[in-house]
Amino acid sequence: MLDAPGILVDVSFFDRLKAGLARTRESFTARVEQVLRQPPGPEFYDELEAALVMGDVGLPTAGVIIERFRARRDTADPGARREALRQIVAELLGPPAPLALDPPPAAILVLGVNGAGKTTTIGKLAHRLRAQGRSVLLAAGDTFRAAAIDQLLIWGERVGAGVVRHAPGADPAAVIYDGLQAVRARRLDVLIADTAGRLHTKVNLMEELKKMTRVVARELPGGPVERLLVLDAGTGQNAIQQARLFHAAVDVTGLVLAKLDGTAKGGAVVGIAHELGLPVKFVGVGEGPDDLQPFDAGQFTDALLPGG
Ligand code: GDP
Repeated sequence: MLDAPGILVDVSFFDRLKAGLARTRESFTARVEQVLRQPPGPEFYDELEAALVMGDVGLPTAGVIIERFRARRDTADPGARREALRQIVAELLGPPAPLALDPPPAAILVLGVNGAGKTTTIGKLAHRLRAQGRSVLLAAGDTFRAAAIDQLLIWGERVGAGVVRHAPGADPAAVIYDGLQAVRARRLDVLIADTAGRLHTKVNLMEELKKMTRVVARELPGGPVERLLVLDAGTGQNAIQQARLFHAAVDVTGLVLAKLDGTAKGGAVVGIAHELGLPVKFVGVGEGPDDLQPFDAGQFTDALLPGG
């Protein structure tokens, strides 16, 4: 954010999250706020449910929210209703879920369809872990696209992390294997591995991902391993279907919701987290190295439904 010409001001994470959710607030929040001012009665619940569904929360989760809302005594006070809604939403989003990184070395496989934001997330995550004093190595496990390898090299340079890579077309499991060997030999803390995301060859892709997870399990027995699925928050409810496919194949340990900035579908985060029963570990709110934040249900709820 530019405060005065040429002076860069580091706005807080919460402010960046709030700024990122601006478009979501224009649609979701504005609609919900209008309903909160309706008189009590059955229509109130119907209208609230409709507002939540239109705000991309999704039908199943909107149903659960209404059920929990009905279990409380309704009031005509919009402030009290907002508070009740905030509590229910925060409950559905779940407690904070930190990354499993200890004892080192740790491995993080980053999964997701092409374009979801995997490589960018890897760069941002590497930057974040390095800033916390952890040494990081990247593995170019998307050997299908030469451009993916190049993009990871650029991020590696940008954030000061080495990159293990093979030639395009190589076996991704072999890249991961080499990465894990290198991490151990150099006594590094974390290997972050990119993976392919060409969903149109679904069966092959899932087999390839399973093989990669087997190599990690064999090489780091009992060690900290994350399988993070990156979803484009802008795809709203479609992200749930994608996530189910990946989760069935490789037992996803956490979600990263990328591109929360610039989408009006931020309400989908509530449905995604609740329907999948998977923790949201990070949210992406921009393309820069600092634009990845650990997910915090309270902060997210505050940004989505600001108190009156
Ligand atoms: P991949 O194919 O899954 O590796 O996706 P990329 O990391 O290449 O990202 C696809 C596009 O989305 C790129 O143009 C990124 O700069 C952009 N992108 C990724 N994450 C974010 C985010 O959190 N916010 C915004 N605005 N753009 C993002």
